[in-house]
Amino acid sequence: MREPGRLVLLGHPVSQSLSPRFQNAALIDAGLPLRYEAIDVEPSRFEAVLGDLRAEGVAGNVTVPFKERTHDACDRLTLLAERVGAVNVFWVDADGQLIGDNSDVGGFDATARTLLGDIPRDLSVGVLGAGGAAAGVLAAVEQWPGCVAHVYNRTPERARQLAERFGTFAQPVDDIGVVAGADLVVNATSVGLRDDALPIDPALIPRGARVIDLVYKRGETRFVHALRARGIRACDGLEMLIEQGALAFERWFGIAPNRAVMWEAVRR
Ligand code: NAP
Repeated sequence: MREPGRLVLLGHPVSQSLSPRFQNAALIDAGLPLRYEAIDVEPSRFEAVLGDLRAEGVAGNVTVPFKERTHDACDRLTLLAERVGAVNVFWVDADGQLIGDNSDVGGFDATARTLLGDIPRDLSVGVLGAGGAAAGVLAAVEQWPGCVAHVYNRTPERARQLAERFGTFAQPVDDIGVVAGADLVVNATSVGLRDDALPIDPALIPRGARVIDLVYKRGETRFVHALRARGIRACDGLEMLIEQGALAFERWFGIAPNRAVMWEAVRR
C-alpha cells in the first residue's frame, strides 16, 4: 500500500459529519502530518472526482450516497466489500490500483458486542431497512454462530432481493411484528435522521429485547430515548461510526488509532 498524502471523506451532503473531528484528533495524537477533509461531491461528478483523487494517491472514506458507486469504481475489493456490495473505505496501492473495503461491518459488530456484553450467538435479529447499511448488518450477522435474521422494508421487493443475496439465514418478512419480536432489533433505515420520526412503534418491542439504531444524533435519537423509557437496552449509531473510522485508520496506516482520543473529540 502507498502511504496516503491526503485523507478525504466523500459524500453529499457531508457538512454534518463527525468524521473529520475524530479522525483529525487521531491523526494529531499519532503524530501524522495529515488533515482529514470532508468534500461535498456533486453526484454527477463523483467518478471524475474519485479518478483525480486516485491519481493523487489519496485515501479516505465514502458516505451516502456514494458507497455503491465506489464499489463499482474500485479495481479491487476486499471479500467483505464484495459481500456487502458497498465500499466505505478506500486507498491506492503501490501499483496505483484503487482498493475498496467495508469497515461498517466491523463497526456494527463492535457495537453489538458492547450492547450485548458478549459474543453474539443463537440470536434472532430483526432488521428494518434494505439499503447498504442493512447489507452491512447482514454481513456481520452471518458471521455470528447460530443466528438468523428477518428483514422488513418499506419497499418489500428490496428486502426480498437483499435476503436472497445472503442465503437461508436471512428471510424477508411482510409483517413488521416479526422484526419487533426479535432478540436484537436493528434500525438500518434513515428514519429519524432528519427529524424525530420513529422507525417502528417502541411499544411493539418486548422489554427483554436489545435495540441498535444505526442513526446517531447529538444527545442520541428519539427512538433510543423511547426504548429506554420502556426499560429496553438500546444504543444509537455513534459507536459504529467511531469504530468504522478506527478500522479505516488501521487500513490506511497499519496502526491502531487512539480510540479514547476519538471519543473525546466527538463528546467535546
Ligand atoms: P440507503 O441505502 O439509502 O437505505 C435507506 C433505507 O431506509 C431503505 O431501506 C429505505 O426504504 C428506508 N427508508 C427511508 N425512508 C424511509 C421511511 N420514511 N420509512 C421507512 N423506510 C424508509 O441508506 P443506508 O446507507 O442503508 O443508511 C441507512 C441509515 O443507516 C442512515 O440513517 C445512515 O445514516 C445509517 N448509517 C449509520 C452508520 C453509522 O456508522 N452509524 C453507517 C452506515 C449507515 P426503501 O427501500 O423503501 O426506500
